[in-house]
Amino acid sequence: MVKGEDLEGLDGLIFPGGESTVMKRFFAERDFQRSFDSWRKTNRPVWGVCAGAILLSKTIDGGENPLGLADVSIERNAYGRHRESGYRTVNFIDGTVVEGLFIRAPRISATGQGLSIIAHAGKDPVVVRHGSVWLTTWHPELDEASGLYDMIFG
Ligand code: GLN
Repeated sequence: MVKGEDLEGLDGLIFPGGESTVMKRFFAERDFQRSFDSWRKTNRPVWGVCAGAILLSKTIDGGENPLGLADVSIERNAYGRHRESGYRTVNFIDGTVVEGLFIRAPRISATGQGLSIIAHAGKDPVVVRHGSVWLTTWHPELDEASGLYDMIFG
């Protein structure tokens, strides 16, 4: 189990895909929440991938409140179950187009002030940025280079 003290000295953090409800349990540990809050004060980049994006969002439609680092509402498993998972075309605002893998992905259902949309799939925002906090509702790490790692941590 990751401990709060493990955060010290990290230049950035990625909250990966998985189960957002499980990841939230880390933050139930008071020590971890406190260390995370203090690490965040230096504004180093944080990237939430899929379940990680759910964890960092402000509200989950019909669910318990997540961490609220990015001003978005999010709907879990919005495109269906595992069987319905697959590739969708991701269009970046700079013209880059990649095929993105969406695995029991969430959908960003509303965006607030201070949020930049970096890429869409159809009408849905699928890469968004709120200051140093980035969310992707799909899994860029599993496929062709999208340039996101360099955009976020470069
Ligand atoms: N469905 C998962 C959740 O709601 C996210 C799935 C994923 O990270 N690929 O937490």
